[in-house]
Amino acid sequence: MVNIWSLFAQIIGTACPLCGAPGDEICAPCDATLPRNANPCPSCALPLPEGTPQGLPCADCQAHPPAFDRALAPLLYAPPVDRLIAGFKYQLQLPLGRMLTAPLAATLRERGPLPELLLPIPAAASRLRRRGFNQAAEIARHLGRQLDLAWAGNRLLRVRDAGPQHELGRAQRRRNLRGAFACRGALPRHVALIDDVMTTGATADEASRILKRAGVGQVEVWAIARTPRE
Ligand SMILES: [Zn+2]
Ligand SMILES: [Zn+2]
Repeated sequence: MVNIWSLFAQIIGTACPLCGAPGDEICAPCDATLPRNANPCPSCALPLPEGTPQGLPCADCQAHPPAFDRALAPLLYAPPVDRLIAGFKYQLQLPLGRMLTAPLAATLRERGPLPELLLPIPAAASRLRRRGFNQAAEIARHLGRQLDLAWAGNRLLRVRDAGPQHELGRAQRRRNLRGAFACRGALPRHVALIDDVMTTGATADEASRILKRAGVGQVEVWAIARTPRE
């Protein structure tokens, strides 16, 4: 039954955001129905068509290998994940950040070796002003707690606002992002970049390029969800 109290419980994070069952996470039956990124490109996490041999990079990664070493995004950016991420980002339903991070943390627990530092993709200043928080930093904080890893929001910086990316082609996107990031302070050999949704991978690619130029040996990209190729 959806009443005002169960809605309130969902907003403060004491009920499943999908069905209202009591608890502080997405309940197991709802979790089982979330769209999974079951056959991702091992390099950029792009969902590949069913039947594509596993472990083979997508055509794009073969033609233009990205600057990061691998990407991981366990969910697909599709209903109801898109709606939950929007609630987290635009309606400030902050408990959703923790709940949405759980599938990523579960995937990572089964895998090693983990990076030494988590770096949220920094938000553009204009977005930060509008939204009041950087959703990637929230996710890095939750992941850090769930996996016992350090995170830092002040090592990778956005020094130039690149503007919207989605209407640009690959080459234009790259050009548009040049000079957008800088890093500061000592960085360990192995880091993971954290974002909410991985769309084209261009932002993560440029940030990884800067990190590698600063001497980082291995860069992974971790996101809650991945969009299909546009
Ligand atoms: Zn549920
Ligand atoms: Zn790929």
